[in-house]
Amino acid sequence: MSYFDHAATTPIRQVAIDAWLEYAGAFNPGSAYSSGRRARSVLDDARERIASLMGAEPIEVIITASGTEADNLAVQGLFRASPRARIVTTAIEHPAVGETVRALTDDVDILPVGRSGHITDLSALDTPAAVAAVMLANNETGAIQPVEEIVERATAVGTPVHVDAVQAVAKVPIDFHSLGATTLASSAHKYGGPRGVGFLLAKRSPAPSAVLHGGGQERGVRPGTVDVASAAAMAAALTEAIAEREAENARVSTLRERLVAGIRAAVDDVIINTVEPALPGHAHLSFPGADGDSLIMLLDAAGIEASTGSACHAGVNRMSHVLEAMGVGPAEGLGSLRLTLGPATREEDIAELVAVLPGIVDRARAAGQR
Ligand code: PLP
Repeated sequence: MSYFDHAATTPIRQVAIDAWLEYAGAFNPGSAYSSGRRARSVLDDARERIASLMGAEPIEVIITASGTEADNLAVQGLFRASPRARIVTTAIEHPAVGETVRALTDDVDILPVGRSGHITDLSALDTPAAVAAVMLANNETGAIQPVEEIVERATAVGTPVHVDAVQAVAKVPIDFHSLGATTLASSAHKYGGPRGVGFLLAKRSPAPSAVLHGGGQERGVRPGTVDVASAAAMAAALTEAIAEREAENARVSTLRERLVAGIRAAVDDVIINTVEPALPGHAHLSFPGADGDSLIMLLDAAGIEASTGSACHAGVNRMSHVLEAMGVGPAEGLGSLRLTLGPATREEDIAELVAVLPGIVDRARAAGQR
């Protein structure tokens, strides 16, 4: 089996498994007696490591149950904390941000993106808003967005900025304090931590208002007993992923270039939707006329796991909102593949994929004619 879906989730690192096993028996870190204090000290250590790796203070690290939860707590919380009603965002956000914004208000300004998948016009940021919510890197195309400039423009008019960095953490250098964002979301399973744990970095002020109500843990932003073992595993994975970042980014981007060149040479009429600046492991491709579901199923039958570059809702292959925002029409966009490389990708996987893909695209194009 070869795995080309690292953007969906990434194999867990051994250091994360080891840390999780070591602390699986940790008690409630909120308890004042010895076992609670021991759990608290493991949690404090994880928090301090995450803070120092991300350029934040420990108090700014809020452990969450996922990237989705971190996005929701920030976007809803900052919206509620503001007297303003307007939100500025993009049309290419992950649903964790996009659907959250949609549920909050109709008073939304969308920063446009061009055909390369990058935001092209920041002028909507010049009018104050309750919150600006933008992703650092897109999960479908990998396009890296101009978040430094976005934070600068928004901050100039007093708009707090939430950055969804779920795809970018441990791949793009991030220093929370230099970036100046108000909040930033991350998810452990995107860099080899366990699934079902993440963190939100949140400045002291303006702080997100409480969305969940409970016992006041995690500054009251994310109440609930913290999963100490998962927090420790996340810190261990982040430490290793950031230590390996430069070498791994270079290795993965070389493999990605080889893959894209191989596919271009072997398959007629392929459109490359991943345009620099982009994450090193992303290759989003369209094969006009091909049926997207057939691409995935035929690859799967050949032992290759990848994701459709369009979105599958309830079994119906529809255009992804990201491609639509980039101005890609259904004739091109419906037959898309998102190939995402990462630590599990080996040279042999590239050769294998390049060898089988032409036949699969032919068959998916035949299926697309029906
Ligand atoms: N934001 C982005 C950009 C993502 O890619 C994802 C996951 O794919 C999320 C948020 C949600 O993260 P989680 O799976 O931890 O809820």
